[in-house]
Amino acid sequence: MSTDYTASALAAGDSVRIVAVRSTNLVVQAQQRHDCSPTVTAALGRLLTGAALMGTFLKGRERITLQVWGDGPVRGLLANVVPGGRVRGYPLRPRADVPLNPRGKFDVAGLVGRGSLHVTRTFDSGLPYTSAVPLASGEIGDDLTHYFAHSEQIPTVVGVGVLAGPAGVIAAGGFLAHLLPGAREDTIALLEATVARLPHPSSMIKGGMSPEEIIARVGDNLAPRVTHVAPVQFACTCSRERVTRVLIGLGPAELRQLANAEQETEVTCDWCGQRYCFAPAEIAELLQASQERESM
Ligand SMILES: [Zn+2]
Repeated sequence: MSTDYTASALAAGDSVRIVAVRSTNLVVQAQQRHDCSPTVTAALGRLLTGAALMGTFLKGRERITLQVWGDGPVRGLLANVVPGGRVRGYPLRPRADVPLNPRGKFDVAGLVGRGSLHVTRTFDSGLPYTSAVPLASGEIGDDLTHYFAHSEQIPTVVGVGVLAGPAGVIAAGGFLAHLLPGAREDTIALLEATVARLPHPSSMIKGGMSPEEIIARVGDNLAPRVTHVAPVQFACTCSRERVTRVLIGLGPAELRQLANAEQETEVTCDWCGQRYCFAPAEIAELLQASQERESM
């Protein structure tokens, strides 16, 4: 399978930014790590693809977290991206599922229900800023478009898609185009008209199109110029060391209980599904070490 990456471009005399991504492996990873149902794979895959696109705006220690909360069976979807195209995410209820919609497609809107999209941007300083918008349709792509238009007041077109069959994910990808200062007002209408004529993003990926070729289609008539490409992967920031710190944070009483238990203590990372196991003897050592530190 080809590797995942984003391509970023400037178009229309540097007044439009266009980003495209191939995210097939990212979505395969998410599906496998969380054992997602087909519709959850489509929903989470679209959100992860959106996160990968938005991740191209980041630098330094910045990060973006997307949260979709709804009254549908999946309840919630989360995605997070840091610079370097490192994306992770999880569904609240991975096995939730709904029948195909009347058009024979994954009913992502039905799975998500009515609710809201929360976007948290954490800046280099570490300060987070969250804004929320009601879900436009629950189809994720529309919701991201709505977020850019209403929260950031940046006219944007977003397309994200996951193509899956009985054997799993076949292709995933997307694009995002938005106006920069100085853009002509009719540019967004032009982009919308171009995008409306395009095949679904996952079909373009399945057909073998690269992110650069998708940019060429989205930016048709706007002379796009690719400025850089960057890898994208499913990657989490969890580690045994971090989990150890969380365990110590539980306090001596709780640790003593775990140290005296018969079974291992198992901690699973929500974001990536990685399991960390600690034998009672290891917990006893943590307890002792934390108490020695306290008495110093
Ligand atoms: Zn993790």
